Amino acid sequence: MIETDALVIGAGPVGLFAVFELGLQGIAAQVVDVLDEPGGQCAALYPDKPIYDIPGVPLCTGRELTRNLLLQIAPFSAGFHFSQQVEALARQPDGRWLATTRIHPHTQQQFLARTVVIAAGVGAFVPKELKVEGLAAFQGSQLFYRLKPDDVFAGKHVLIVGGEDAAVHSAIALAQAGAAQALSVTVLHRRDVLQAPPEELAKFAALRSAGRISFVAGQVSSIQTSGERLTGVAISTPDDQSLTLALGGLLVCQGISPKLGPIADWGLAMERKQLVVDTASFATSAPGIFAVGDVIAYPGKKKLIVSGFHEATLAAFAAAALIHPEASNVLQYTTSSAVLQQRLGVL
Ligand code: FAD
Repeated sequence: MIETDALVIGAGPVGLFAVFELGLQGIAAQVVDVLDEPGGQCAALYPDKPIYDIPGVPLCTGRELTRNLLLQIAPFSAGFHFSQQVEALARQPDGRWLATTRIHPHTQQQFLARTVVIAAGVGAFVPKELKVEGLAAFQGSQLFYRLKPDDVFAGKHVLIVGGEDAAVHSAIALAQAGAAQALSVTVLHRRDVLQAPPEELAKFAALRSAGRISFVAGQVSSIQTSGERLTGVAISTPDDQSLTLALGGLLVCQGISPKLGPIADWGLAMERKQLVVDTASFATSAPGIFAVGDVIAYPGKKKLIVSGFHEATLAAFAAAALIHPEASNVLQYTTSSAVLQQRLGVL
């Protein structure tokens, strides 16, 4: 159980900036995201695309914005908890909020927070599942949706399903680790056209020519098992043939999609799948819970990063009024306030 003054749900650009504004208010935060890295949509959907409408930054990519936000919030030493989804949020008798997260497949983490800032964007980004009867039972043992840094695939023949960046990147990484880990790699995609940055496609082609990656065009139709082991998949090819591919490990990289998921079950007022907020404070219908960024709706709301930054600023002021009711609410500038500069670690 981690106790905190503020729990930020979502490490997208708005969640990260909320950490900054909370930090200026003297509030330390813990941040949870179901993704395995910060940046939300900027990192997951457009890391290399240009953004032109961040104030004072004429041009940056999604990845650069994330990196700069992380630099900006570094003085506040927030705790980051990735690869876990906040599932439940329940009010405790003392007014604090108990958040329970799930870390796949069976572990949970709990946070006891005085305030919660929901910056959940368009929802939790979760991998698109390969829906084949009986397959889900192997998740975590032989079936994975993300390439893990450990050697779960060592000594195995690995089948990678997918044809975009993550599939190509994972195939290259595994093929390059292949000799050391005695594994072999086959990529299965519905047709022999892959989509990834040109330099990755060039590496992939070189490894394929060298026989270190095999490629098969087709789609999985069923699984084959022996006892408790997944041993292979049956596939149908574009010309309607049926083939069997043996495997020891299965990595499915079919992309990610946002799911609002459990937020809808937390008893907060919502309108058309978005949280309703008071625009003076970005408070939700529950005391101590604020919401900012793409997850909220109010008249005139624009789903832009700059709007989320404003919302996070007002939410942090409102959280401070709850956590430090005795503190002066005179507005201070980072330019001249000794208190703010001490919090920023520059004085
Ligand atoms: P998100 O970025 O969606 O982050 C939310 C995070 O919360 C995600 O990481 C998600 O995994 C996590 N999360 C959700 N639920 C849970 C849960 N229960 N537990 C744990 N984690 C959870 N905006 C601009 O201003 N300028 C642009 O040029 C621009 N270009 C864009 C280009 C593209 C292709 C797209 C798709 C969007 C663009 N946007 C742009 C919009 C901008 O990216 C969003 O407005 C912004 O990302 C919203 O930030 P956020 O932090 O609210 O949400």
